[in-house]
Amino acid sequence: MDDDRLLEALDKHLKRPERVVALQTALTACKAMGPENGGRGEMEKARLIAGWLKDFGLDDLCWENAPDTRVPDGARPNLVAVLPGRSDRKLWLFGHMDVVPPGDLAAWTSDPWQVRQEGDRLYGRGVVDNQQAIISMLLLAKELRAQKIAPSLSLGLVFMSDEECGSDYGLGHLLAHSRELFRADDLYIVPDSGSPRGDIIEVAEKGQLWLQVRVTGKQCHAAWPHEGRNAFLAGADMALSCHKRLHAAFPEEDPLFDPPGSTFVPSKHEANVPNINTVPGSDVFYMDCRLLPGISAGAALEEARNIAARTARRWGVAIDVRVEREQASSASPLSCPVVTLLTDAVERVHNVRPKPVGIGGATVAALLRHKGLHAVVWSTLESTCHQPDEYCSISATVKDAQVFARILMCDHA
Ligand SMILES: [Zn+2]
Repeated sequence: MDDDRLLEALDKHLKRPERVVALQTALTACKAMGPENGGRGEMEKARLIAGWLKDFGLDDLCWENAPDTRVPDGARPNLVAVLPGRSDRKLWLFGHMDVVPPGDLAAWTSDPWQVRQEGDRLYGRGVVDNQQAIISMLLLAKELRAQKIAPSLSLGLVFMSDEECGSDYGLGHLLAHSRELFRADDLYIVPDSGSPRGDIIEVAEKGQLWLQVRVTGKQCHAAWPHEGRNAFLAGADMALSCHKRLHAAFPEEDPLFDPPGSTFVPSKHEANVPNINTVPGSDVFYMDCRLLPGISAGAALEEARNIAARTARRWGVAIDVRVEREQASSASPLSCPVVTLLTDAVERVHNVRPKPVGIGGATVAALLRHKGLHAVVWSTLESTCHQPDEYCSISATVKDAQVFARILMCDHA
């Protein structure tokens, strides 16, 4: 059986992890940070990956590079490889090539750009975020070719840039320029988040609404506060009122999410006056709101402005609320094929039945969902992303490849 041959071929990488270690070592040494983080971008890493894919026998590679004058190569690479199966329908896997800076070097046990192995663990910047996915994808492509197997589904691999800084030069660019690659009945998995046991499938994300709240009063000497209008005091009232009244206005809960409700959090606060004996005439703070699917950003904004109008009257100040950033919520249906197939594949490989969840954060899966493509986020990983001593598990890398293999080989199309 082709299925068994493929799974056994992948299994050999558990006993002989040399290839996983070699791939991780080469990818980590690229230091593929974006220009916002003082890096040279992802081109060197993309060329390495393209070279390996060609060595494995994949010639059908397509580059969709985003021009970017901030990096030496003048472009941010997005590489797409397709390995045909018996059906045109594809399983798409997405890995991002960019990594975040190592941060405080003193917090690392060893050089973050030099992979260190300790048993099943590999340490280095980027090994888990997102090279584990990249290597699972590469192992799968390699063994399909080496074993000369034509899977049931076609396999689509996307190696993208700029995930850590917004995806404008990454998946955003690819979807804007090569949307026709992606079909509604294809399957979409983004292996960029998960749990150590692989028992969580992320199917939905809350919407994000970031607000700036600017309070304008009248500055005066703090010994005669009645001569001014204290913007800080009015701002504090506004923060408390928003926290209380926005939750009351949008009390809906969805048990798919943790926490189950929308959240409205006063977060950043700008400095006002430098001295203690002045009543501030201006006060600026920010709110991070995460909205359940079904709650519109427009409705939340309107409610915040109503609260602002009432608070402004109470204190005799002006309060202006404006949107800093907005991203709509996104959800894939629980009954869609990728959820069902992935659930079964995980159960067979890991012996756990994963459960679907919604999150408050934002991933590139939202970009796919906003195009009507039912994407999920799943992988088996330790939550060491962005931390010092980031590490990945070699066995999780191989087993993720086996989960993808099961979906690919499954005769359902
Ligand atoms: Zn990531």
